[in-house]
Amino acid sequence: MMHIVVCVKAVPGSTEVRMDPVTHTIIRDGGAAVVNPFDATALEVALRIKDARANMGGPTRVSALSMGIPATESLLRDCIARGADDALLLSDRAFAGADTLATSYALSCGMRALCEGAAPDLVLCGKMAVDGDTAQIGPELAGLLEMACATDVRTVEVPSPGGVVVRRATDQGIERVELPLPAVLTIAKDAVQPRMPSIAGVFMARDAEVRVLGAHGVGADSARIGLAGSPTQVVRSFVPEREAAGEDVLGDVAAQAARVRELMGGACA
Ligand code: FAD
Repeated sequence: MMHIVVCVKAVPGSTEVRMDPVTHTIIRDGGAAVVNPFDATALEVALRIKDARANMGGPTRVSALSMGIPATESLLRDCIARGADDALLLSDRAFAGADTLATSYALSCGMRALCEGAAPDLVLCGKMAVDGDTAQIGPELAGLLEMACATDVRTVEVPSPGGVVVRRATDQGIERVELPLPAVLTIAKDAVQPRMPSIAGVFMARDAEVRVLGAHGVGADSARIGLAGSPTQVVRSFVPEREAAGEDVLGDVAAQAARVRELMGGACA
């Protein structure tokens, strides 16, 4: 049985977020949260590996893992509706306000609880979360779990017992990388198109058990989780003031060029 764990983060469904004036963290009160778009793609990659292995007679278990508020459970049910086999939610006030190091530590504890002490064969994360946007969790998880890691992955071949071949984006183009298992991959958003939940999946997800564990339940060291366990803190975040509205430059090419030159103060000859 190959075990793939997909890390799924609940992110605000709109850019209108409220920040806690004291902790400078997002007020995650469940209002219109969605699955981080990169993670929906990571889940699809996992499900396609599962489908491909099934065609070759190889069983695969796909688990979704999230650290979030209790309302995140509904997003994990959506992952089950799309094809995940099970889900674990790490939810505890002690986790709140975590920076990426505290988050990745909490997720590594959740991983051990999910895998009953063993290690998963693959951990898939999104390349980044659209709210915190650091892209640090995947590599940090790989370090904590002592796994190989490839980031910004565009394609994943069906893993063999010894390893997995991926193609990842670099500044010089697409790079082919062979990694040993277990490995952590962070998946780019445009890697594959996520599937929709099936009707059968929706009914199965409705009755599925989504385990919810707190810090004690996953044996997390309280000194390494949440705001108190975060060596870094967001000092200030704000929605940038939108300055002057843009202008539609109309007319034929010559007129548009003249207007752009004017707007740029004649900078270009
Ligand atoms: P990323 O590293 O961008 O996420 C990559 C992948 O990791 C995700 O696609 C997902 O697969 C997985 N993942 C991330 N979080 C979770 C989760 N909670 N549950 C399951 N999977 C998860 N923290 C810092 O340490 N440094 C900063 O500079 C920083 N800046 C921030 C700025 C803003 C505006 C905000 C709102 C938060 C910031 N944070 C920062 C806090 C950060 O959002 C949290 O640490 C968060 O839990 C993980 O960081 P991230 O969202 O950047 O994740």
